[in-house]
Amino acid sequence: MLILLDIDGTMLLARPAGVPSFIQAMCETLEQEIRYEGRRFSGGLDPLIWRGLCADHGVERPHVHHDRFRRRYGELLGAALDAQGGASPLPGVHRLVEALAGRSDVTLGLVTGNYPETGRMKIASIGIDPDLFVATAWGVDAASRRLLPRVALDRLRFRFGRHVSPGDAVVIGDTPKDVDCARYAGCRSLAVTTGLFGHDELRAAGADRVVDDLEETDALLDWLLGRSGAGG
Ligand SMILES: [Mg+2]
Repeated sequence: MLILLDIDGTMLLARPAGVPSFIQAMCETLEQEIRYEGRRFSGGLDPLIWRGLCADHGVERPHVHHDRFRRRYGELLGAALDAQGGASPLPGVHRLVEALAGRSDVTLGLVTGNYPETGRMKIASIGIDPDLFVATAWGVDAASRRLLPRVALDRLRFRFGRHVSPGDAVVIGDTPKDVDCARYAGCRSLAVTTGLFGHDELRAAGADRVVDDLEETDALLDWLLGRSGAGG
């Protein structure tokens, strides 16, 4: 079984470090003010959020600036996370990850819009080893979140020679986009309401199961490993 976790809103909350670091890095790199009110970051891919904001501000040839922006964002996020003592882990995450990581029949992975370096930084900041997640798909790995679960499955195959079919993978996330990418890839989805979306929105998106948080370790393990029927 392959369990693919989203990071922001699912494992942790990076605020107040997250979005302001991203925006400040943009301001510094582009030497202009960046307004982002009304733009939702959740569920988006960082390189696409960058491109979208560049387009909003009439930035020409954004790709020329992207690598410098990305480096600066990493520096600022690292400093901001240090200053606030790390991101805030969401309820149950440590116990669930620990339980899953201890099982020989489970592989852990990530499906996230983060850059690899900033995603790893966020995870490490809550005291979880980012190297526990071997099947990774990051925001830089595809042009759409929909394609990310496939990337994670392929990476597992190329790196470790392990074939897992989409039906044996579960995506855990906090947005309708996480649910959508799971459905598109043929994976099951477990949605949590610890981000910005509630039960109704996540269920309407087609989530196989929606829970308040990841606290109920045993019940979640049963469901993730297919030991119980459909639920909540
Ligand atoms: Mg998220």
